[in-house]
Amino acid sequence: MKILVLNSGSSSLKFQLFDMRKQQMLTSGLLENVADHQQAISRMEEMLKESGCMNSMSELTGIGHRVVHGGEDFHNPVLIDETVMASIEKLIPLAPLHNPANLAGIKVARQKAPQLPQVAVFDTSFHQSIPEHAYIYGLPYTLYEKQQVRRYGFHGTSHHYVAQQAADYLTQKYGKDKTQLKLISLHLGNGASAAAIQNGKSIDTSMGMTPLEGMVMGTRCGDIDPAIPFYLAREMGMTIQELDDLLNKQSGLKGICDENDMRTIIGQADKGDTRAELAINIFCYHIKKYLGAYLASLNGVDGIIFTGGIGENSSIIRERSCENLDNLGIKIDLKKNNHRAGNIMEIQDHSAQVIVLVIPTNEELEIALQTSRLIQQQE
Ligand code: ADP
Repeated sequence: MKILVLNSGSSSLKFQLFDMRKQQMLTSGLLENVADHQQAISRMEEMLKESGCMNSMSELTGIGHRVVHGGEDFHNPVLIDETVMASIEKLIPLAPLHNPANLAGIKVARQKAPQLPQVAVFDTSFHQSIPEHAYIYGLPYTLYEKQQVRRYGFHGTSHHYVAQQAADYLTQKYGKDKTQLKLISLHLGNGASAAAIQNGKSIDTSMGMTPLEGMVMGTRCGDIDPAIPFYLAREMGMTIQELDDLLNKQSGLKGICDENDMRTIIGQADKGDTRAELAINIFCYHIKKYLGAYLASLNGVDGIIFTGGIGENSSIIRERSCENLDNLGIKIDLKKNNHRAGNIMEIQDHSAQVIVLVIPTNEELEIALQTSRLIQQQE
């Protein structure tokens, strides 16, 4: 049983082919600077043939498409039909950069393989379980009713995947009751978000109506005083476009120390660069603040999960963001934190109440799993 996972960006196409019996990736590819999705998907078919893993689309059981914004319409993955495509199109104002590209990929893939079941898996759907008091902003309620202004949250596929991995691990190793687990998941990559997860369901997350809210990120500012853009518009005459660019692309770690790649920033801080050091301190302090917030939302926590490029690979960031939290039951063992071992790493000190896990995320595998599950349910 083969499932192809597609992530169509505005100028790129990422694909991964899975053998679902073994839950194994067979081959993957990234096509960059693509002019249109028609060309990109034709090129992908050639690459799949060249890899020897697949000769034609007819060998597939289904295709799973990553779709960024599912708004309030999609709480789960769905089989794609005309109605679903119309809904994704209707949601374009909420994700003007991503949904059009995701939809373009879907359209071409459906032309190429009209008989094949195709599934949309949304970045937002895992967070649809968040209660009203956590997703409604302190704004006029009509903006929610008429303009869909609310917290949606993103990185849902990743938070969902690592939370399931953590639940399996904690039940097997500690006999914990899966239905009673309280977890905080930290997805730390170029974009970063935290999620509070109770009984396998997201109850809060740091990204908001857009991925700009929350922790300080590579180039995004995260939480700031919402009056700052008015001040900049008044004092510097900045336009909406300039402010959008400033807050999304020129801020965050890049804004603070001119660099958005965490590995480089850590290297610069090691050489005594004080701005790089400041950027790290701010990044870790934001993580700590969200840990505190979600410890309160959940009334305690069984496990904290670090994932994403930074969460999986940087022992320094993990150490600093959990520093001085021993009164809350959180303490990292520095030796375990620095020692790379196995797929899932457990890094808390023996005296700590809270289990701290490092779990590699695998959004593509999760999309493939959700796609194959949905297709099997239909049969
Ligand atoms: P994306 O959000 O684009 O998927 P990733 O999850 O791959 O990004 O994360 C990219 C980030 O991970 C970069 O800032 C990169 O520097 C950081 N990273 C990767 N390896 C390390 C490492 N060993 N130490 C610190 N940061 C790392």
